[in-house]
Amino acid sequence: MTQFIDFNLIEPIQKALKEVGYTKPTPIQEQAIPLVLEGHDLLGIAQTGTGKTAAFCLPILSLLATRMTRREPKCPRVLILTPTRELAIQIHQNLLSYGKHLKQKYAVIFGGVGQGNQVRDLQLGTDVLVATPGRLLDLIQQKHLKLDKVEFFVLDEADRMLDMGFMRDIRKVLPLLPAKRHNLFFSATMPPEIQTLAQTILKNPKKVEVTPPATTVKRIQQSVMFVDKKDKLDLLVHLLKNENLEKTLVFVEMKHVADRVSEKLQKSGILSAAIHGNKSQGARQRAIQDFTHDRVRVLVATDIASRGIDIDGITHVINFELSNVAENYVHRIGRTARAGTDGFGISLVTGEEKSYLANIERITRQKIEVIEDQPYHSVSAARADVMSVGQAKAQIEGRRQRPSRGGGARGRAGGSGGGGSNGRSGGRSAGRPASASASRPGSRPSSSTASRPSSRPGVQKSSGPSRP
Ligand code: AMP
Repeated sequence: MTQFIDFNLIEPIQKALKEVGYTKPTPIQEQAIPLVLEGHDLLGIAQTGTGKTAAFCLPILSLLATRMTRREPKCPRVLILTPTRELAIQIHQNLLSYGKHLKQKYAVIFGGVGQGNQVRDLQLGTDVLVATPGRLLDLIQQKHLKLDKVEFFVLDEADRMLDMGFMRDIRKVLPLLPAKRHNLFFSATMPPEIQTLAQTILKNPKKVEVTPPATTVKRIQQSVMFVDKKDKLDLLVHLLKNENLEKTLVFVEMKHVADRVSEKLQKSGILSAAIHGNKSQGARQRAIQDFTHDRVRVLVATDIASRGIDIDGITHVINFELSNVAENYVHRIGRTARAGTDGFGISLVTGEEKSYLANIERITRQKIEVIEDQPYHSVSAARADVMSVGQAKAQIEGRRQRPSRGGGARGRAGGSGGGGSNGRSGGRSAGRPASASASRPGSRPSSSTASRPSSRPGVQKSSGPSRP
């Protein structure tokens, strides 16, 4: 079995690895490190949680230390481009620990904060620069930074760059790099645009792939709970009353929903914090720190804000809302079961979101178990027709944009309920409105999708109220 000492990594790095407690390389590290050390360009297909950061940082640091080139002000020797500030900070922290016995310097630049310290770091000279695309281009334009001495170029989370609209920025960066350079390219999935980009950047690359695209990590036990929209918050609170859900990341689609969910949890006595793109960098960092250090049990996040967050010990990921992008599901639940532990992924699914679920099941080639044994089980959601993702998205987003002040047409008092959460007269999935009470315990559905009551930790204990 391969160990780190089997790699041709220089001694100061081996020493640092012992100190951080890594003994055995992860599969992506086992494949990638020797190839990078041999000088190959690399195409790595891997999601976060697989150890990909060390897979590219370790060989680069080792090669860099043995080269004669020296750092110069404003001219990094390594550029690591990454989509989010959180991921940039994370990679920078990893560099500091892997490289702590080396004389190299590491800097990180990202937007949303003042540029003063970042500019100072660049003036002083840095060997490795971790950057998000916007701030990178900004500082280049202001002549605080040049890329013509870059020896190694890493593009991390390329598919997420695409999702976040950074393709144009990346295309602007590429011509600023020297033609002769060593390239490493990482992506969790390889949609066509990303394949084209990889071909533009890489020269005769070696490909390493640890998890096939859009398959989910096996150690994560996944389940679905069908619920009406109006009951979602109550179901979430109900689940979180169970202390087996020790450290839980809750995903939502919209920034304001993140705040609303977090407030509701706080009011229910569940310590939580929210992160999303409208929060200041300081507030986001504070929320992450509180969650990391167990000062709050629940972090409510949108996809973009949470990208790249690497927090140990997340026991559960709850999709409060499903994304219409199936790959996001894979990324989200990949936040638990990191570095070899087990984890749970629970999705709260309305009738409309069932169409997203069907797409996720198709892409990940799996059927996700349905748990009916919960007090807000919705028969109408479970039985909703599956639409195309596009149709479902139009319905869900159309309704989000409508003002819902005052309860609108959705008359609360009448409790016309269950399917009524759909709130649209023409909604196909609302075709069979079931009253909310019909979906409560004691009125088990006669049939639904493949389902059985949960016998798993983290879910079952909480379902007391639903038991006969
Ligand atoms: P990454 O996929 O790079 O975000 O890494 C996921 C997590 O695994 C991080 O917390 C790393 O510190 C940790 N990790 C990476 N490589 C190893 C290793 N060989 N042994 C133990 N933990 C590791």
